[in-house]
Amino acid sequence: MSRTEASPTVDVLIAGGGPAGIGSALALQAVEGLTFGVLERGSVGQSYRDWPRWTRFLTPSFTGNAFGAIDINAVHPETSPALLLQTDYPSGEAYAHYLSKVTESFELPVVENTPIETVRYDRGIYTVGTPRGVLTARSLIWAGGEFAAPHMLDIPGADLGRHSSRADAWEPPPASRLVVIGGYESGIDIACSLVARGHRVTVLDPAKPWENTGSDPSLTLAPRTRQRLRVSQASDNLSLVPHAATAITRTNGAYSVTDATGARYVSTAPPILATGYRPNLGPVAQLFERRADGWPLLTADDESTLHPGLFLSGPSVRHKNLHLCFIYKFRQRFAHVANVIGERLDRDTTALRAWKLAGMMVEDVSCCDKECVC
Ligand SMILES: Cc1cc2nc3c(=O)[nH]c(=O)nc-3n(C[C@H](O)[C@H](O)[C@H](O)COP(=O)(O)OP(=O)(O)OC[C@H]3O[C@@H](n4cnc5c(N)ncnc54)[C@H](O)[C@@H]3O)c2cc1C
Repeated sequence: MSRTEASPTVDVLIAGGGPAGIGSALALQAVEGLTFGVLERGSVGQSYRDWPRWTRFLTPSFTGNAFGAIDINAVHPETSPALLLQTDYPSGEAYAHYLSKVTESFELPVVENTPIETVRYDRGIYTVGTPRGVLTARSLIWAGGEFAAPHMLDIPGADLGRHSSRADAWEPPPASRLVVIGGYESGIDIACSLVARGHRVTVLDPAKPWENTGSDPSLTLAPRTRQRLRVSQASDNLSLVPHAATAITRTNGAYSVTDATGARYVSTAPPILATGYRPNLGPVAQLFERRADGWPLLTADDESTLHPGLFLSGPSVRHKNLHLCFIYKFRQRFAHVANVIGERLDRDTTALRAWKLAGMMVEDVSCCDKECVC
């Protein structure tokens, strides 16, 4: 893929070289004769390279590919992070290595260190501006992830807190007392890590997500997190409080978090905001309509309802109550979107059947909300 002003218009550009961008590129590669490229603002797997070093995957990797049970963290049916990395819960650095290896092995056209700064749509063509020049494409797959868009709290003193995506939130001074605001995956993850390292932690969350049950791991704690939670609770250094934080103050070097009942909790280091993420849509933010919950409104093909040819890939894809926020969920749409793009351009998409046969292609997501029997 050329990067000069005079570049020919390609069929598809992909924004982002995380699992959603790399996986989407792999599916496009299976469509006959498509021209496409991936633009990544940093390096392939940049979000994973930026993860705090204490964090690990929640979804385990295991190589079942030859038996039709594809490693659930894989972005292509013929790859397995467990096989490459020889670990079941990869670190961010390790998973970034897997993504780089996949990029290299499949010779994907990825241009690194190239942030997309502007996107314009005019009569069927997307014009994408980067510091290296302008590119044009008939379709754009936005795969910018969420890690770069932490959700901050809207309460007095929120700026005194540190979001859990920051490395320094994970490394307070020894024997700290800490308050974590938010008790779903990232809150319990950081709380358990801190308790295991000798800190005392209070977690505040009015929704008590640590009590949720059901088959959908997008709404309940992962089994590994639950297991770690049991260990932390047995240590007596973890308190779970079912109330909302309403304010953070700082006096004489210590922090105080007030909850909805008026109770106060001391935090000797900045309170941790485990308040999740928002879609990182950057320059395409205005090109999507929004749902009531603020997430992008999509057609049944994960496309903008405003601009044909603009697709979303990754954890921000939501259909009604369905959150495709884990890799094993959102990877099911790589081949579907590639198929839609291929068919519109009248290309042969037969090779995508291999994705379907491997169980890595769901065309109709309305059937994905079944509860397990046990
Ligand atoms: C601690 C932690 C643990 C997690 N554990 C799991 C797990 O066990 N299993 C699981 O499935 N998920 C897990 N997740 C969630 C998972 O990391 C995300 O769902 C996944 O990274 C989303 O992939 P993505 O490709 O959409 O986004 P990302 O991985 O964030 O990739 C987006 C890419 O886009 C690039 N980019 C952004 N803006 C631009 C731009 N303007 N121009 C060009 N490039 C751009 C970024 O640099 C980045 O490389 C975890 C997340 C965290 C934080």
